[in-house]
Amino acid sequence: MEFIDLKAQYRALKPKIDANIQAVLNAGQFIGGPYVKALEEKLCAYVGRKHCITCGNGTDALQAAYMALGVGEGDAVFCPDCTFIASVEPAYMLGATPVFCDVSMDSYNLDPESLERQIQAVLSEGKLKPRVVVAVDFLGNPCDYDAIAAICDKYGLTLLEDAAQSMGASYKGKMCCSFGTISTTSFFPAKTLGCYGDGGAIFTDDDALADLLRSICVHGKGPGGKYDNIRVGVNSRLDNLQAAILLPKLEALAEYEIRDREAAAGRYGAAFAGKLILPPVPAHGQHSWYQYTLLAADTAQRERLIAHLKERGIPTNLYYPTPMHALPVFRALETYGETYPNAVEYCDRTISIPMHPYLEATEQQQIIDAVLEAVR
Ligand SMILES: *Cc1c(COP(=O)(O)O)cnc(C)c1O
Repeated sequence: MEFIDLKAQYRALKPKIDANIQAVLNAGQFIGGPYVKALEEKLCAYVGRKHCITCGNGTDALQAAYMALGVGEGDAVFCPDCTFIASVEPAYMLGATPVFCDVSMDSYNLDPESLERQIQAVLSEGKLKPRVVVAVDFLGNPCDYDAIAAICDKYGLTLLEDAAQSMGASYKGKMCCSFGTISTTSFFPAKTLGCYGDGGAIFTDDDALADLLRSICVHGKGPGGKYDNIRVGVNSRLDNLQAAILLPKLEALAEYEIRDREAAAGRYGAAFAGKLILPPVPAHGQHSWYQYTLLAADTAQRERLIAHLKERGIPTNLYYPTPMHALPVFRALETYGETYPNAVEYCDRTISIPMHPYLEATEQQQIIDAVLEAVR
């Protein structure tokens, strides 16, 4: 059994994907090209943003965003304690200081109260300048953007949405990838919209920022083109081939994949209610169901679950076993007295089971039976 069955998706979309790949090979245009342009337009329309700049991967997208925002030494970047390191790694590389905030137990997303405490702690210490809040739609669950945006406004901070896990999700009628000054996503194969290699995208509604982001992604190109370098940038682009693969996948995501993930999550929820802690569902929106993540009673029960499912040939994963503040690379950073009780509890108990839009009823029943056996 596959944790995320990309082969089943390929079987469903094979005629369109194969035709697009063949068309790219026939045209011989690999860097840039009509599929990249078409994808950027389709993504803008889908998420409701003015500009989309595709790039090499989701980490590059975040790096370009931090560069465009001028983040560097002396700046504080506020980040939830439960995420993948890439949310804040590029800011750290640029010289900024990550300040981790606890998550809320009813979403596993950035807790607005912890965020505000950390901002006030940084301000009263007076060493760093609060600059950016990176909000992560963790596991595909959209953040509480009303609350987070209000805090950003109150303290004059820029909101950056890391939507690497939430393509297809929405909050109060607005799609993820449309929140904050800049939002970023990843087309890593396992994500809800994944390509056949690496890819990413950056979104903004700001014309000047869009120009700056396009320049940053092409070696700091100026108005005179790619040999008119006016700043130091990076080389980060999405291949025409990957865009050609993503176009039919975006159609499938919009037409039925999120619906089918939601249905699978509903079946899991009905089976596990009262047995394990179910994943939080958004109060005002649509989950992307990038992952279906349960909380075990404790780490010992989780270990029993993993072992039992493995015995039955069912893969599991941990997203993620270690909170950011406890990672070896970040352990020495100032925590401002925050002890991250929710993030620690989440990381100790989290377990993700197979979730994708092509999960068949018989397959899902095997998973359900095995989980129920293990927790009986
Ligand atoms: C996957 C992911 C990224 C990075 O994306 P890549 O394309 O792998 O570089 C960033 N943030 C989060 C939350 C992710 O899950």
